[in-house]
Amino acid sequence: MIGRRKVCFRDISKFGEKQKDGQIPFTEINKLEKASEVFWDAIINAGSLVITCEFCGRTYFGSYSEGWYDEGELEDLRASAKKEPDKYIELYDTDSISWGYIDGRQAVYSCACNNVVKYENWIWQHRHLISQYLNKRVKKMKEDLKAEQYVTSQLKEVE
Ligand SMILES: [Zn+2]
Repeated sequence: MIGRRKVCFRDISKFGEKQKDGQIPFTEINKLEKASEVFWDAIINAGSLVITCEFCGRTYFGSYSEGWYDEGELEDLRASAKKEPDKYIELYDTDSISWGYIDGRQAVYSCACNNVVKYENWIWQHRHLISQYLNKRVKKMKEDLKAEQYVTSQLKEVE
C-alpha cells in the first residue's frame, strides 16, 4: 500500500494567508517565548510545599505558613537559598506550588528555565498531524472493539 498512495502536500509555509482553494486558512501563530497559561492549565495536577523542577534542578519552597515544615527543614532550605539563590527559590506567598508531569518529568509552574515552552510549540506546530493521528487511532480502536464484540457474541452462541 505504501508508495502507491497519491501524495498531496498542503502548502503550510504561508500561515495566515487566505488560500485560493477556499480552504480555511491556518491560524497565525508565532512560536511562543513562554508557555501559555492554557498549556500550564493542562499540565498542572498537583501542588506541593517543596518541589524540584526536573528540567533544570531548581527547588522551589513555599513559606506562607512556616508551620508545615519539619523541625529545621525550612532553615536548611533558606541556608541553601543563601548559598545558591538561583537553585533554591523561596516563595513567600504560598504553601502550594503548582506542578505537573510532562514527558515523564516534574515541571514547576512558571519555572525560570522555561523548558516547557518547547513542548507547547511542538504540539501546536504539529497539531494537524497529531489530530489526524489521534482520530485514526481512535477509529482503529473502535474497529478492533467491534471485531472483538463480534467474536464474543459468537462465543455466547456456542455456550
Ligand atoms: Zn525548571
